Amino acid sequence: MAIETYKPNGKFNPIVFGIVPGLGLAGGLIGGWIYQALIDLIPWIILGAIITFLFGIMLGVLVGFGLKWGKCRNRAIAIVLGVCVGITGLGFSYFWAYQRVKSDVMSDPELVKETGGQFGFGDYIDARVAYGWRVTGKHGGTGTSWSGGFVYMIWLVEAVLVVGMAGAAPLVYASKPFCEECDCWAKKESIGEVHGVDNNRIQAAAAAGDWQGLVQPVGDPQSNRWIEYTVYTCPVDGHPMWLSVDLKWETTKRKKDNEVESEELVEYGLIDPGLVMLARQSVQQGPRMPEKYVKSRAALPQGKRTPKTPGTTPQHAQGPQRPGAPRPPMPRRRPPQS
Ligand SMILES: [Zn+2]
Repeated sequence: MAIETYKPNGKFNPIVFGIVPGLGLAGGLIGGWIYQALIDLIPWIILGAIITFLFGIMLGVLVGFGLKWGKCRNRAIAIVLGVCVGITGLGFSYFWAYQRVKSDVMSDPELVKETGGQFGFGDYIDARVAYGWRVTGKHGGTGTSWSGGFVYMIWLVEAVLVVGMAGAAPLVYASKPFCEECDCWAKKESIGEVHGVDNNRIQAAAAAGDWQGLVQPVGDPQSNRWIEYTVYTCPVDGHPMWLSVDLKWETTKRKKDNEVESEELVEYGLIDPGLVMLARQSVQQGPRMPEKYVKSRAALPQGKRTPKTPGTTPQHAQGPQRPGAPRPPMPRRRPPQS
């Protein structure tokens, strides 16, 4: 018995077909120029790839704004419009790249004489394939020129990144909760966190679709896990409609310390307002403690009840090693002898 979750119903306002192409053209024209200027300026291949990725995301977010405006809950439309805007933006970036090289050629008297003052888009492609780009590796150095087949490969990677990101990012927008009765997007509100929850029980509650167990989690003093609630409310009638529950914990990975990992227990689960009240209560009061802890604490003689060491908080207390508990730091690996 799984929890019923929000599903976009595929409806949209036809104005999306006006707003999104308009935003896409403007974003592609301006963003494409900035993108090419940055690519020309920066010789590092990794940074170039990041900028390409960001250009695609920027186009996708613009499409997302248009979808939000046009109340689009249709994922197929979101992807198609995103891909179209991605291709348009990529086209503008080629146009600007050509314009930049052309103006360089035209400002050089030698090259003007050589080309006869004619430098078309085809000439630009030929020149780019022949000369490539000057790229610098991570460690600087003199830099190598990537040309020939590499140019086509880089163009392919660039196209996949830009069109892929522009097509994928709008999906997030078209999937957000929407109140069909009031014809508006739901408002997102973070309720807060409950620390030190029993991992096994909360996972079991999620698997069984048990809302009660999710909004009134059972605690475990040795657990380093916490849950976070996010509620989606209709802004017109103030009715809370969907609740997301995320389970989070800190991990210590090599080099990086204290990285937070999370697992989505419920995304946009259909919920009763009374249960949202219980979730708010749990955030304020903490998890419910199981009987055995309450009893054992009461059984301790006075004076011995607080065996706390300074600096340890209850949710990070040291306990026996369990699957979810933080591991002690690993000894650093010695570099190989050479
Ligand atoms: Zn409503």
